[in-house]
Amino acid sequence: MATKFVIIGGGPAGNAAATHAARLGAEVTIVERDVIGGAAHLWDCIPSKTMIATGGAMSFTRRIGGMGLEKQDVEVDIEALTERIDDIKGRLGRNTTRLLESQNVRMIAGSARLLDAHRIEVTTPTSVEVLQADAILVATGSRPRIPDWCHPDGERILTTRDCYPPKEFPTSITVVGSGVTGVEFVHMFSSFGAAVTLVVSRQQVLPNKDPEVAAVLEDDFLQRGVRLLKGARATSIERIGGEVVVSCDDGRIVRSSHAVLAIGSVANTDGLGLEAAGVDVDGGYVTINRHCQSNISHIYAAGDVSGKLPLSSVASMQGRKVAEHVMGLSKVSHRHLDYDKAASAIFTEPEIADVGLAETEAFAEGRKIRVTKVPFSATAKALINNDSRGFVKIVSDPATGVVLGGSIVGRHAAELISVIALAVTAHLKVSDIVESLLVHPALSEALAEAAE
Ligand SMILES: Cc1cc2nc3c(=O)[nH]c(=O)nc-3n(C[C@H](O)[C@H](O)[C@H](O)COP(=O)(O)OP(=O)(O)OC[C@H]3O[C@@H](n4cnc5c(N)ncnc54)[C@H](O)[C@@H]3O)c2cc1C
Repeated sequence: MATKFVIIGGGPAGNAAATHAARLGAEVTIVERDVIGGAAHLWDCIPSKTMIATGGAMSFTRRIGGMGLEKQDVEVDIEALTERIDDIKGRLGRNTTRLLESQNVRMIAGSARLLDAHRIEVTTPTSVEVLQADAILVATGSRPRIPDWCHPDGERILTTRDCYPPKEFPTSITVVGSGVTGVEFVHMFSSFGAAVTLVVSRQQVLPNKDPEVAAVLEDDFLQRGVRLLKGARATSIERIGGEVVVSCDDGRIVRSSHAVLAIGSVANTDGLGLEAAGVDVDGGYVTINRHCQSNISHIYAAGDVSGKLPLSSVASMQGRKVAEHVMGLSKVSHRHLDYDKAASAIFTEPEIADVGLAETEAFAEGRKIRVTKVPFSATAKALINNDSRGFVKIVSDPATGVVLGGSIVGRHAAELISVIALAVTAHLKVSDIVESLLVHPALSEALAEAAE
């Protein structure tokens, strides 16, 4: 008899697990209460990057002087932008649904909760059904964290989910939170011409990133006229008259037409019946081992709800690994997921991407490393592109030459990082990059030079 595998949540983690397990022969059911594609399609990766692409096109037109073109003013058409976002979300959702159908995955549009360690109750608008499972995957994702001192209204006081695009486009906006999402929203709104203030609780935007990387981004923000309020924590956000007033713990106050909260997320585990099934959670997140198993061995968690790296790419890979484990493949051939080797990107301008060991991390650990850095201005392609901002940095082992990590700041950094990510995962040496015959003229030439 085929393994009965029930998945709660149809985001990247749930979908990857479903298609892969079905291919391996499981009888798969996936329960999703919103849309197949998950928050990643509906509110996070896809709409935010679509808005950023349009904003990026707008800001590019402001920088075409020097490319032999006349400057032209470009205006945003909110209706067309909304249609574009909806169209992309729709297409991706349909693609994912078709893929699941082609693998005979049963999809149920409803809300699921565990009754015990093997039974899942599924409520749809017209029915209540109880499913029996040999293995269960909790892939319910996360949602924006809203502190008790702030009451988003979806109009002027926004969470990230209200921004695609906002009902009324901001003339000025205060972004609270200077992590990855915060800086992407600064870039997005300032590209569209809004006056942006960023509340930065520490002394550096992207506090967990290499200071050299953060410095390039701060420079760009300052050049665009973004106001950085460093060392300040927001303590209240209120609508007063026609303005939104953000008050900070050091007494500073910012007034703008809108404010958006970007201060992290919380796991979607409330009301899920984890207690009834005996599953351990920590701070709302399901505790997992390296196979993504919870303390109940046939109940797995993957994606944001597992409290590991909150990235769509990591969620999908976890889902895939869960499918392999459920189907017993881990005993045959299975590479464990190494979160330290996950590439990630920040879609600002310039883009920022990194993977593996960071220079700062190695210094903190007292580890011997070789660091090589090449600015994009040294490449022909950056000059041709009229954009020579940023650099490539490669971290390697001085004894063996094995690539340990790297960061890239600049145009197409999110694409270029794949070369270093592959080198880190496959334990390639810097000489392997140097000896690859790369394209000319291309930004990747900076990679080869940094590997020298
Ligand atoms: C603004 C923003 C931008 C981002 N951009 C990127 C990016 O560019 N690249 C990247 O890699 N990551 C990005 N992320 C992170 C990424 O969106 C998440 O890591 C990813 O969505 C996690 O996937 P998941 O499968 O865990 O959960 P989700 O995508 O959240 O899907 C979980 C699904 O479970 C469903 N669900 C929950 N509870 C139940 C229930 N009881 N019954 C049935 N269904 C249920 C939900 O409806 C949801 O559809 C971004 C995040 C944010 C906030």
